[in-house]
This record gives sequence, structure tokens and C-alpha cells, in this order.
Amino acid sequence: MDGSKVRTDTGAPVAAPNSDPSSRSAEYMTRAGRHLAGGVNSNIRLDERPAPFVAVRGRGAEVEDLDGRRYVDYVCGMGAVILGHADPGVTEAVVATMREGVAFAGQHPLEAEVAERISAAVPSAEVVRCTSSGSEAVHAAIRIARAATGRWPVVRFDGHYHGWLDSIHTAARSPEGGLGAAAPARPGSRGQPPAAVHDVLVMPWNDLEAVRSAAGLHRGRIATIILEPILCNTGVIPPAPGFLEAIRDWCSRDGTVLIFDEVITGFRVALGGAQSLLGMTPDLTVFGKAVANGFPMSAVAGRRDLMGTLVSGGVLHGGTYNGNPPVMAAARATLDALAADGGAAYAALTAAGRSLMQGLAGAGAERGVPVLTQGPGPVFQMWITGRPSVSDAATARATGVAAGALFADAMRRRGVRSLPSGRWLLSVAHSADHIARTVEAARGAFDEVREAGLGER
Ligand code: PMP
Repeated sequence: MDGSKVRTDTGAPVAAPNSDPSSRSAEYMTRAGRHLAGGVNSNIRLDERPAPFVAVRGRGAEVEDLDGRRYVDYVCGMGAVILGHADPGVTEAVVATMREGVAFAGQHPLEAEVAERISAAVPSAEVVRCTSSGSEAVHAAIRIARAATGRWPVVRFDGHYHGWLDSIHTAARSPEGGLGAAAPARPGSRGQPPAAVHDVLVMPWNDLEAVRSAAGLHRGRIATIILEPILCNTGVIPPAPGFLEAIRDWCSRDGTVLIFDEVITGFRVALGGAQSLLGMTPDLTVFGKAVANGFPMSAVAGRRDLMGTLVSGGVLHGGTYNGNPPVMAAARATLDALAADGGAAYAALTAAGRSLMQGLAGAGAERGVPVLTQGPGPVFQMWITGRPSVSDAATARATGVAAGALFADAMRRRGVRSLPSGRWLLSVAHSADHIARTVEAARGAFDEVREAGLGER
């Protein structure tokens, strides 16, 4: 879901064809397209192959489509569903809260309980503010950083996604931006004023020299540097050794606010997020997705002094739905389940992810298709490529695209729902049996890729 792949970059959304036009799912998409733009409520959902997925229910690690077919699900609500679909504990908590009313435009005791849990899990999150989507929370974080520093320029990285809003959505870095330099951003969507990204600079991910030279060139000028600490939106690409440390040094030296966008990695790769795995401390963090197991909840959190700009620094953040009780109930139940037994769920989740990574690589080798997997496990990337690793977004975008799309299509026909981009997202409900079924399906899917001549070496 890198900004460059959002359909609005290339023109009006077009409903993707369904492989079986007589299916109820295809009929639904035709009907939906008449009064719902493109038949979807997020452009990103048009990317799924062979067609947008029409769901009727999900239980644990499985989802069922409108045609009554069941799939092992590795989309997991784009990473939001960390405990599994329709987790009974979350559902009960939400239903009980809903019975008491959902919107008071006032305070509710669950709000402080959620903030306390986030702070306990992630030490850098001293003070929290909740909102409804990741895009909004990013927007708030950037506004706080600009207000606190009194500067406008924002540095971001190619291939990272921070939501669709005007202030930060940018196109993929063009090669003429020059290797190594921080290049001015271009809007990522039609209708987005170039002025909105006028103060945004885009840098290549994992290019330590570029960071060093930009730190010298832009000394004392940058308001904030925002990044996914483990890039998950254009391949899954961890930071190179020393890369985040160099950025942290740059920020600390210049009083620049370091924002970690942990919308995918937060409460997914570890209870303390990617920052705990990497041993890094950002100034602000953005959470979303897994924090409420699929309910619309996100948060900006971080240093007490920075968050204080919302209280006495004249920084506006509002929202009718922020902190509404059912969503807070979902977040509290999710965070309690994830934190139980010292975060024991993460050991199993990571082991399941790693076992699937190995299983896919093994199935590829067995079927004569080169496979690369990389990532922490609860989220990882699978490319059909002979490369030993991928460390930047430009390479990620150019690697195994057609093969990955065919593979996702072939997996869907075998009862496994995975993203054509090759990003895999697991939940704690994925069992050894689900993994085994997935690897078995992959054997057949790799055969199709090889027979189509797409198993690149
Ligand atoms: N940041 C990251 C890292 C994301 O992956 C996303 C969404 N995939 C967002 C921000 C935006 O979140 P939302 O879609 O909830 O607005």
C-alpha cells in the first residue's frame, strides 16, 4: 500500500474483474459499483487479486466470502486483526459497552484505561491521544512536531506509507530526484495541491550516506522525520544496521522530532512495537490497526512535553468519534489479551510467522521457484526472486510483481487469502494446521508460477 500504488495516482478507480463473473461476489461488485464509488470504500481494496474480496464473516484465522468459500486469511484487516476475527473477548466487551450508549462527546473511564495500557506497553508513549484512523493520527503527530519546533520541513522515506492525507501522501521518489539527496516530494494523488507537500523531503530508505549528507545540508531546519521503523508498505524491509541510530542522532542534535509510524508494527511485532525490538526511542509514535483488533482506533503518543502542545501549545486536535466507548472497550480487551502472561502471545505469533516463512521458502525450493522471505514474522514479505535480500523501496517495487500477483490468485483458488503485494500478516489465531495447509497450497501455486515462466532467477 505504498503511496505510489494507490489507484488515484494513475486515474479513476476501476473495479477489478472477478475471475468468475457468475459468482455472487462478482455480481455483488457489479451492483455495488452502481452507487458506491468503484464498489469499495477504500481505493486500496481494489488491488486485491484476482478481485476485491467480498466477505460475509470471519472467525479466528479464517474468512468466508459471499459465495460460501472459506479461506485462511493473511490479510487480517490489513494488519488490524491481531487476535483473530470476531475474538470473543473483544466482541463481548464491545457489545456490553454499546448497550450503555456509544457517543457522549464527553469523557468515559475507559479512555484513561486505554491510555494507561499503551503507556505501560510502550515506555516512550508517556502521554496518549486517541483518534479514529492512522492517517489522522499521523496528521496530528506532524502538526505537534511542527508546532513544537516552529519549523515546517518534514523528512520522510520513499515507499513508506503514512496515510492518504494531503500533508504527507507523496508519490514514489523519482530517479531524477538524485541518488542520496533528500528530494522535494511530489503529490501522490490527483487533487492534492503541490503546496501541501512543499515542505516535505523524500529520502531513500536504508541509505546511510544520504542521511549523513542531508543531516549536514539541512542542519537545524527540519521539524520532523517520520518513518516506519520496519518498512512494511513496500516490501517488509528492516532498517540497515546503524541507519535508525544515525537518524536518531540527527534528530537529537537538531531538536528535530522523530516520529515512528507504528500503525502496522505497533502491538504486532512485539507488545512494545518495533521500537522495543530495535532498541530505539522515538519522540512520538503513531499507533493504529492492531491496537483494537480491527475497531477504528488509532493514537498519537509520546514525550510529555510534545504532547503538552495539545493542552497549552495552541495545537488543535479534535474528532467526534475519538475515544468512543465501544472502540475503547475493544482496545482495552485487545491490549489486555496481548499483555497477558508478560506478552506470551508474541512468542507464538512470531514462531508461527517464522514457520510460515520457512515453509514457503521450502515449498518454493521444492517446486523450482526462487523465494525470498524477510521480516520479523508476525508481518513478513515473500518475493518470488533469486535475490538474497531487498533493502530499498525502489528494488522492492521492481521485484517479482507479476509472479506475486499470479501467486496470490493461485492461492486464493486454493483457499488461502494473501495480498498480491506479497506482504503476509498473521494473527494469534493462526495455528500449526493453518500454516501446514497454507504451505501445501503454496506448492500448487508455485507450480503455476513456474509453468507460467514467472519464476525469475
Ligand atoms: N501508517 C501506516 C504505516 C499504515 O500502514 C497506514 C495504513 N495502512 C496508515 C498510516 C494509515 O492508516 P489508516 O488507513 O487507518 O488511515
